[in-house]
Amino acid sequence: MNTDYDVIVVGSGPAGSSTAEHAALGGARVLVLERKKAVGEPVACGEFLPILDEIKATFPDAEDLEPVFDIPASLISREIDLIRILSPRSRGFDIPFLGYTTDRDRFDKHLASKAEKAGAVIRTSSMVTSVKEGEVHTRDEVYSAKVVVGADGPISKVAMGLGLQRNGDLYPAVTSQATGAFDSTMEMYFGGLAPGAYAWVLPKRNGANVGVGVAPKFSDGRVGDYFQEFIRMRKLEVTGRPIGKYVPSNGPVPRTFTSSGLLVGDAAGHVMAVNGGGIPIAMICGRIAGRTIADHLRNGTPLSSYEESWRRQVYKPLRTAVRTKMLASLFFGGPRRLEFSMRFLGPRRMGNILRCRPSFP
Ligand SMILES: Cc1cc2nc3c(=O)[nH]c(=O)nc-3n(C[C@H](O)[C@H](O)[C@H](O)COP(=O)(O)OP(=O)(O)OC[C@H]3O[C@@H](n4cnc5c(N)ncnc54)[C@H](O)[C@@H]3O)c2cc1C
Repeated sequence: MNTDYDVIVVGSGPAGSSTAEHAALGGARVLVLERKKAVGEPVACGEFLPILDEIKATFPDAEDLEPVFDIPASLISREIDLIRILSPRSRGFDIPFLGYTTDRDRFDKHLASKAEKAGAVIRTSSMVTSVKEGEVHTRDEVYSAKVVVGADGPISKVAMGLGLQRNGDLYPAVTSQATGAFDSTMEMYFGGLAPGAYAWVLPKRNGANVGVGVAPKFSDGRVGDYFQEFIRMRKLEVTGRPIGKYVPSNGPVPRTFTSSGLLVGDAAGHVMAVNGGGIPIAMICGRIAGRTIADHLRNGTPLSSYEESWRRQVYKPLRTAVRTKMLASLFFGGPRRLEFSMRFLGPRRMGNILRCRPSFP
């Protein structure tokens, strides 16, 4: 039994690395276990992030965001200034929105290196096979720690091991890179491929990130087939095979803590249900988790204060997004209904929806 660490974080995505960084900055001995051979690889993400002002507008109660999103310019692949939403009949709705694409593998490595600089140890090729309160098993070793963190993505083994509820309503999504020249507009397609299917083209420095996601409730087709259909339809040249993952689409799970464990990021359902974006919330909640753990180890602060804190800072927009998604799903069923409701909403209200605000404030 390895007892060298106070905290074991499972997963080295944005949630795990942010948690590890802030727990280590607070003096905890932190080990991150990552099943992949290299942090951030392969990329299964649209790689889009809003600029800081957009993040503040979406999460107005989140505290002190400047240091969290102090992203080096070298990690910005392409600036985006417009989101174009395309209806089933290819009618475009333009929403001014500032953001950028990154290279997600380099982005995750950057966050992991910040955690390492703070003193955390990151061990790759370390698949966690089971978890109990205070105990983490990999194929080669058993670790005992005061706190175990589930930052292990949408299908969280840690959540199961801690007896916490896992995400429901997972959307499969795949992504790949396309070559060619693209302007600085993010394209989002809804309902044209199949009911409940959506697709995106996100410009990068050389080419674009392209992907497709599906709500299984509305469509029984395979996401990989829709991806191929989208590429044909949009006449894209794609390099490499599409990589898939799941997107939690039901908002946060009911409880994200036990007496010795926490869930963060996708494992906690920290994703905007209206657009599938989860990187910013993973980073915000990761910092809250890391700081809470450090306080817990130093002063005995209960881990429940993590949940109080993230709910105070980001829950309201996440809940609004889930409600909007539920309402929108009434219109997902058929292209005609979707076409009509998109025209009815128009770009301004669609902009509200993308920013997790009520569509009719
Ligand atoms: C196709 C697609 C496109 C997306 N596009 C965007 C986008 O453009 N912008 C955006 O903001 N969000 C996007 N998202 C969502 C975003 O990727 C996630 O919300 C974000 O990665 C969450 O970070 P995380 O650290 O919680 O989880 P992850 O980034 O998934 O990291 C979890 C880590 O845990 C590791 N792990 C899992 N199980 C184990 C185990 N048993 N043992 C050890 N390690 C384990 C995994 O290998 C992984 O490295 C997209 C998601 C998908 C699927």
